[in-house]
Amino acid sequence: MTRPRVVIAGAGFAGLTCARALKHAPLDVLLIDRNNYHLFTPLLYQVASALLDPGEVARPVRELVRPLGNVEFRQAEVLGVDMQRRILSTDRGPVPYDYLVLATGSQSDFFGNASLAQHAFGLKELGEGLALRNRVLARVEATQWVAEAERRRMMLTFAIVGGGPTGVEMAGALSELIRHVLKKDYPKLDLSEVRVILVEAAGWLLSTFDPVLREAAKRSLEKKDVEVMLNAKVAQVTEDSISLASGEVISAGTIVWTAGVRASGLGAVLGAKLGRQARVLVDDTLQLPGHPVVFVIGDLAGAVVAGQPLPMLIPVAMQEGRRVAATIKDMAANGGASAFVYKDPGTMATIGRNSAVAQLGRVRLSGFPGWVMWLTVHLVNVVSFRSRILVLINWAWDYLFYDRPIRLIVRADPDHSD
Ligand SMILES: Cc1cc2nc3c(=O)[nH]c(=O)nc-3n(C[C@H](O)[C@H](O)[C@H](O)COP(=O)(O)OP(=O)(O)OC[C@H]3O[C@@H](n4cnc5c(N)ncnc54)[C@H](O)[C@@H]3O)c2cc1C
Repeated sequence: MTRPRVVIAGAGFAGLTCARALKHAPLDVLLIDRNNYHLFTPLLYQVASALLDPGEVARPVRELVRPLGNVEFRQAEVLGVDMQRRILSTDRGPVPYDYLVLATGSQSDFFGNASLAQHAFGLKELGEGLALRNRVLARVEATQWVAEAERRRMMLTFAIVGGGPTGVEMAGALSELIRHVLKKDYPKLDLSEVRVILVEAAGWLLSTFDPVLREAAKRSLEKKDVEVMLNAKVAQVTEDSISLASGEVISAGTIVWTAGVRASGLGAVLGAKLGRQARVLVDDTLQLPGHPVVFVIGDLAGAVVAGQPLPMLIPVAMQEGRRVAATIKDMAANGGASAFVYKDPGTMATIGRNSAVAQLGRVRLSGFPGWVMWLTVHLVNVVSFRSRILVLINWAWDYLFYDRPIRLIVRADPDHSD
């Protein structure tokens, strides 16, 4: 007898967790992703700030599914779903399924602002982290040839737009990279010409955190010479400037956009109802309404609990992945689907060395204790044992010697990987 086939689109936190939770089940699982790796997003900003190499924050999916036995991986771009015929369409061909799990995550949202899409660096993909690292290193290198101080200042101004965890972490790490590490490589670098600016439209940073932690994060960034601009809404950007809605223009040679995210474009082609951030609205069982064998999980899904959409976070994605795996096993054994219940483990954000904020239930940590908590949680959760050791060595090296090993400007040119 042929076994039911589960197809999972997306090998991120939701899809990979779902595949892992189907291990040993009497089902054949096919996991599909456009990339051949699983990315540990919380440390992506450390690739962009030259502390970690890509191989330390991403692992090949084939390596991760090898121990699972009943899970196969294929690399392909998922294009759409024919729900009547139960076929997933990909750029490599059609894939039939008995159960389908859609977990293609989210993407940067520039809110239709073409100038941002053209000039700002995103920080969602591994390639974007590498592009930003190259840009920062190349900009500092290039200033060595520039005699005109005003131009040097523009080239040495890095504006990060968005005061959420990614923006806060990137700003802190970038300021430390330039002031502690690159300063040693470039003795002639005048640090008074360097600006790292965090631009946020609201009147505070880290909007999902307790007000006390928001203030602590702001103070900590300012101590690291990051300029925090609150109530500053970006209107337009050019290659070397940001215009704010207030009319103020900031000369900035590198602009990083972390202020908007929306669900992967797959949601829009399903013909399903979309909620905020273009997330696919699902039943409380994470099934697509009217399609009981199709599940949507992770950032792509707009699951609502107590009237509130669940945040786009890793614990949500992983818990949804586990719930859907359990439901598919139950359905394959002629059972029914159960409702998803989310358990919130808390959130945290780091602000460079010795400082982080963490909100775990009633516990609030900031400064050094928050940082130790952040280090421990992230080290434990890095995807493989090998990565864990490498990450630990790089962190310790940076901490002790103010040195980041990965200061190479490397471009894949020409890129013949397809
Ligand atoms: C820089 C950054 C830092 C973050 N830090 C934290 C943090 O510290 N803590 C936290 O809880 N959350 C954090 N997040 C959010 C977290 O990464 C997401 O909530 C989580 O990754 C969602 O899991 P997912 O499986 O839905 O999506 P993802 O993990 O993004 O996985 C989606 C997968 O689908 C693949 N894919 C997309 N489209 C297609 C397609 N059309 N065809 C084939 N494959 C496709 C992608 O390649 C990817 O592998 C961070 C996000 C970013 C960008």
